[in-house]
Parts: sequence; C-alpha cells; structure tokens
Amino acid sequence: MRIFTAALATETNTFSPIAIDKRAFEASLHAKPGQHPATPTLCTAPITVGREVCAREGWTLIEGTASWADPAGLVAQATYEELRDEIIGQLHAAMPVDGVVLGLHGAMVAQGYDDPEGDLLSRIRAIVGPDVLVCAELDPHSHLTAKRADAANFFVYFKEFPHTDFVDRARDLWSIAVRALKGEIKPVMSIFDCRMIDVFPTSKQPMRGFVDNLMALEKSEPGLLSLSVVHGFMAGDVPAMGTKLLAITDDRADMGAALAEKLGRELFAMRGTFMVSQVDEVVAVDAALAAPKGPVVIADVWDNPGGGTAGDATVILAELIARGATDVAVGTIWDPIAVQICFAAGEGAVVPLRFGAKSAPMTGQPIDKRVTVKRLKRNAEMKFGDSFAPFGDAAWVHFDGIDVILNSTRAQSFDPSLFSALGIDPKSRKILLIKSTNHFYDSFSRIASEIVYCSAGKPYPNRPAETDYRKARKDIWPMVENPWA
Ligand SMILES: [Zn+2]
Repeated sequence: MRIFTAALATETNTFSPIAIDKRAFEASLHAKPGQHPATPTLCTAPITVGREVCAREGWTLIEGTASWADPAGLVAQATYEELRDEIIGQLHAAMPVDGVVLGLHGAMVAQGYDDPEGDLLSRIRAIVGPDVLVCAELDPHSHLTAKRADAANFFVYFKEFPHTDFVDRARDLWSIAVRALKGEIKPVMSIFDCRMIDVFPTSKQPMRGFVDNLMALEKSEPGLLSLSVVHGFMAGDVPAMGTKLLAITDDRADMGAALAEKLGRELFAMRGTFMVSQVDEVVAVDAALAAPKGPVVIADVWDNPGGGTAGDATVILAELIARGATDVAVGTIWDPIAVQICFAAGEGAVVPLRFGAKSAPMTGQPIDKRVTVKRLKRNAEMKFGDSFAPFGDAAWVHFDGIDVILNSTRAQSFDPSLFSALGIDPKSRKILLIKSTNHFYDSFSRIASEIVYCSAGKPYPNRPAETDYRKARKDIWPMVENPWA
C-alpha cells in the first residue's frame, strides 16, 4: 500500500484584525516532506501516527508538506493557494496511491475561499479518482460543508475540548483507514444538522457525559465505527457555520443517520447549558483579591488567541492595577513592538513602556508604565500536552508588584510553563491572569487554588444572537429560538 499524508490547517476568526500570510505559517509550523518533527502538533498527528502505522503494516507512507498557523483572521488568497498547490503537486508526484490521510482543522477561511478544506479535498478527489480512500482528522471547531463530505470517505474529529485527544483520534482515523484499505469495512458518513451554535467544553457537564456516552456507543453498537460532535465555530462567518453530529458506520448509512439524529437532538435539548458561567472583570478581581491563597487563575476567556483574537486586551489588567493588586503575573499580552523595545533596552533596564490593546476595538486601553525589564527570551515556548507551543521572542517586565510577559508570536495560555520559561514560578503568585477559553484548564487546574472565568470587553463574537453575520445562516439557535418550527 502507498499512502499519501499531509497537513494544512489554521482556525480563522473572520472578525479578527490579524491577517495571515505565509510567514504566519512559517512562524508556527511549515514542515517540508519528511521534515515534520517526531512530536505531533494539534493538526498533524495523522503524519506522526501514520509513520508508526505504515512501519507496522509494511506500507509506504509518502509525506507531503505540513503547515499550521495559529488561529487568526483571514488567510491571504495567495498564501492559501500556494500551500494548497504545494500539497496538490506532491500528491500528483506520488501517484498512484491507495489512500490519502490528512490533518486538517476545518475552520480555515481565506480571501476568496469560504471553504478552503472543501476546495482542497475536492481537488484531491479529482486527482485520485472515486475509488481511493480519502480521510482526515479535524478539530471540532470547524465547518462541516457538503463539499467536504462529498469529497472524502470519512472524517474523525477530536472529541475533547480542551483537545487533549488529538493523538488518540489520529489513531482512530488510521485504525479505520487500515481496516478499510484491507477491505474489512466500508466507512460511510451520516451527518445530522443540529441547527444550533454553542461552545462545548468537555471538562464539565453536560458535555463530559455526552462525550463519555459517544465513546461507550462506539464500543457497543454493532456496525458503528466512529461518532463526532462537530461543535462549529461561531467566529467564522461562513454559510455552513453550525453544530453537526457525525456518525461513521460500516456501510449502514440509515443506522448512522438515525443515531446521528437521536444524539443531535439530545445535544440541541441541552443548548445554552454547556459553558461555564462567566463574571465581568470587577467581580473577577473581587474574587481573586478575596481568595485566602493563590494562585487564583483569572482566565480572560474571550481574548483567546487560540480563537483568533490578537491577545492584547488589557481590560482585566487595568482593573487589577486600579484596585492596587500585587503579587500578580500576567501571561501573556501580545505586543511585538513593546518586546522589540525591551530587547533594545536590555535586561535590567528601566524604561517607559506603552503596551497592549493596540489591535482591536473594545479590548481596553494601552497600559503606560515605567517598567523594569527582568528577563528576555528569544523563541520562547510553553508545553501543550506532549508537544510545545511557541510564543516568540518574549519579555518579562515588572512594575508595581505586577509581572507581565509580553510576547511576539500570538499564543493562548496553554500551560503554566509559559511563566517558568521566563523565570517566573507560577505557583508562587497570588494571581495569574491568562488568556484562554478552555484549553488552559487541564494544566492550570493542577496548580490553581481557584479558577475564575472572566468575560471582559468584547474582543470576540461570543454572542451569536448579537453578532453581525453577513454569510452565516441565521435560521439556527440562538439567532432564532426554535429552528425546527
Ligand atoms: Zn478547537
């Protein structure tokens, strides 16, 4: 067997001011064929798992390029087309192949392309023909379009949010692919449109139980190969935006459709109950100051670069400063200009510095302080599960009992190691202010005395009923109360 694999992925917040070009991919991941590191990243585990599987089976794995850019705004048209054509050219050269196993995200939007993954998959299908297996692993924060479903044999999505299971799901993907290539099964997809959009953290109920049930059903239902909730991505203003339920069966499309509908309606019945409750910045700082011990983690949940925002909002930091809070560490605020100034000044320098809140409206005002540059680090990284997330050249600055890590590659706060990377012991601080919706939870909950979810300013379109969509459908909940009427 000859299997082609590649990855092309980012998550596009179409409302974000941060445009994405080739350099953004190169800053995060742009690995040429054979150059992908042994450690998988979020959307490239099909490559690393594929190496193991093909070695075991004695099959040939032909690697194409793997590209990932951290979530941001629209991808430049020329960048998408260049990256797509790179993979398409590699596939042409690799022909004939028996299968194509891809790592995608599913929420990419490029200038001129509302559905880049659908475009890529249909071009791949056109090359390999109708009989070659085409499958992909995707992030559930994505748009499942008819074009994609038509072009591929099957998709496996991460089940967990935080996405702690991206390697496990790549193993599921490959396990189904291997059985299909050996002729043991015929995977077919059945999709149910849940007519809703919501946010579904699996670290708490009711989604925890829902996902546990999906995994139990996968083991117990005869003929069922895989179940996924495609959460959807409310910051992507595209026609297919919304939540879907996906069942893959061994050639039992009707059974899959019935199960997808049953589960999809269960999910719809729980709409609006999935997110943790959030407080504003005043209540968040009240709670942190009142806590008997630290570290209290305040998560700035909507200024999450992982959702494509700039990650430079200052609303909560300004509240901490106004209240005289000390023993505070902030990680991170994105400000490449301020980082450059700190590098020019050098460690130990005391400089007047303006930082933060330069990129988007409703994210607060820039902070002006005389700061001490405590530590500088080129190409800083933090842990994310078994892999690493880069956050670029970074500066630790100190003023008035507050330590702030300024970074130059946007990254959400995955792990407390972002603090230790600069020499700050996160466990020693009373208050840690971080930027992440939910991915932080797994690692920060291990050191936090308390976690406060804070909704501050309006950096992200997190209230779909109020969002000014131009392309997304408006006949789903919560834009309408009853989309089934
Ligand atoms: Zn995601």
